[in-house]
Order: sequence, then C-alpha cells, then structure tokens
Amino acid sequence: MALPTLRPADEAADGPGQARGPARCVADRVIAIANQKGGVGKTTTAINLGTALAAIGRRVLIIDLDAQGNASTGLGIDRGARGTGTYGLLFGDTSVAEAARATEIPNLWVVPSTADLSGAEVELVSAAGREFRLKSALGEPIAEAYDYVLIDCPPALGLLTLNAMVAADRVLVPLQCEFYALEGLSFLMRTIERVRKGLNPDLDIDGIVLTMFDKRNKLSEMVACDVRQHLGDKVFQTVIPRNVRISEAPSHGKPVLLYDLQCAGSRAYVHLAGEVLRREARAAA
Ligand code: ADP
Ligand code: MG
Repeated sequence: MALPTLRPADEAADGPGQARGPARCVADRVIAIANQKGGVGKTTTAINLGTALAAIGRRVLIIDLDAQGNASTGLGIDRGARGTGTYGLLFGDTSVAEAARATEIPNLWVVPSTADLSGAEVELVSAAGREFRLKSALGEPIAEAYDYVLIDCPPALGLLTLNAMVAADRVLVPLQCEFYALEGLSFLMRTIERVRKGLNPDLDIDGIVLTMFDKRNKLSEMVACDVRQHLGDKVFQTVIPRNVRISEAPSHGKPVLLYDLQCAGSRAYVHLAGEVLRREARAAA
C-alpha cells in the first residue's frame, strides 16, 4: 500500500495513535454525508475524507447506501466480493462485521452496495421500524471497532437517507458551488430539522463543505460568499477545488489520496480531515 501515514499540519493537538479515551467513543462519530442533489461530491467526500482520517490512524467504516455503488467501486471492491452488503444490514440479519470489506487502505473498511439495494427504497415503505433499520444494524458493537462511520447517502431524501439521518450523530453536506446551491440547501436543512424533531433529537449539522470550487469562475466565488453569509461558521473553511485528478481516481478504484497524494484535491481532503478533527476538539472542550 503506497499511502504514507499522514499528519496534517493543522490536525488537532490530540494526534494520531494516542489513547482513545471516552471522548473517542463512536457515539458522536456517525456522519451522514447527504445532499438530495446528485453529482455534488457526496461519494467523493465519503471516500477521501474517510481515507484521510484512516491515514492518520483513525479506524473508518464507510457505508455505501447508494444503489449505484460508486463508493464501493471507487474503493476497488469487486462486484463478486461484496456479499449482501448494505442490503443485508437493512433487511437481513447480517452484522456489520460480516458485511464490512477491507479496502486497500489500512484502517478503512466499506460495507458495499449491491444491486438489491435498488429495491430497498420501496421495500422499506412496508418494513417494520422502517426509519430505524440502519440504526439498529449499527448498534453498539461498532463503537469498539471504528472511530468513524461515514454514510454515503443516495441523491434523494427518501427512506434510505432518512435511515442514515436517524443512525447518524451529524450530517455533513457537500455543496457544489453553482447557482441553485442555496435553494436545494434550505430544503435539506428543513428535512434535517424535521428528523431532529421527530426521529433523532441528537442530530447535528456537522457542516457544509463547498465542493468543485473553480477559482477561475466568478460564479464559484459568488456562491461561496453567499453560502458563508447565510450559514456562517457552519461552512468549513476548507474548500474542495475542482480537480481533474479527483475525477480520474475512481476509474482506478482508488481514493485520490492514493492515486495522486500531491494534487490539489488530495491536499484539500487532508485539510478537511484536519478541520473535522479540530472542530471536534473544540466541541469537546
Ligand atoms: P455524488 O455522490 O454527490 O453524486 P460524486 O462524488 O459521485 O457526487 O461526484 C460526481 C462526479 O464529479 C464524479 O464523477 C466525481 O469524480 C466528480 N467530482 C467530484 N468532486 C470533484 C472535484 N472536486 N473535482 C473534479 N471532479 C469531481
Ligand atoms: Mg454518490
């Protein structure tokens, strides 16, 4: 495995590999990566934030909750090796330990998506405890096994995404710097608020991460300013640039950090991981 151990310069004082005290309990480390729009960078963020956290010694599980299976493919998991995957977690009695597959990156596992998942949205409608199936599948044992669980949501606010928001402690929203960004965002925020009121009172908005930022495009800059004006410090300082290496990496079945560690996209995701850790340290203080 070619990925060196990373140490982002700006990582929080509680560095990698240190004793994991109670603050390290996974209880507040289940993060749903959600936005009902497709193509905004959810999967890319799940894979590369996950890889950056794994590279600094955190144990990370990605749950691929999208039937397209892009996170599973992007992490190099062959279709034949996926087992029952996320579908098995939701509808079978597969445990996380059985469903998780190791990736090429040490400390990074994925519960892959399979073709069955494409029917899940409909099957969930009549399933018992339909909003809570992922939460019950995750249960207590994962607290021992993983420091972070990142859930890569499908591009819809249906029952699958609802399952993610019920199972999660926080929602991270990738937002593409484009004209309609804020419009979709207010709908997403209202959904999160409804989940908090009805199903998961502990759910927090982790933050909004601006993706595919193009510094040559004035619109990118305007949207970024607008989003920051409306949402203040909910918006991560780190901005993910539009970067061709990021879009090439999945066809090699690799995170961009493994494909080209030095490119601007990789550096941005390492930076984002540092910011996630710093925010946690601040919240815990
Ligand atoms: P989502 O999961 O929200 O549908 P993806 O993460 O799959 O979005 O991204 C959509 C497409 O854009 C993919 O082809 C991906 O490789 C590409 N992409 C994502 N982020 C970037 C970026 N920062 N620069 C260039 N291409 C990107
Ligand atoms: Mg996706």
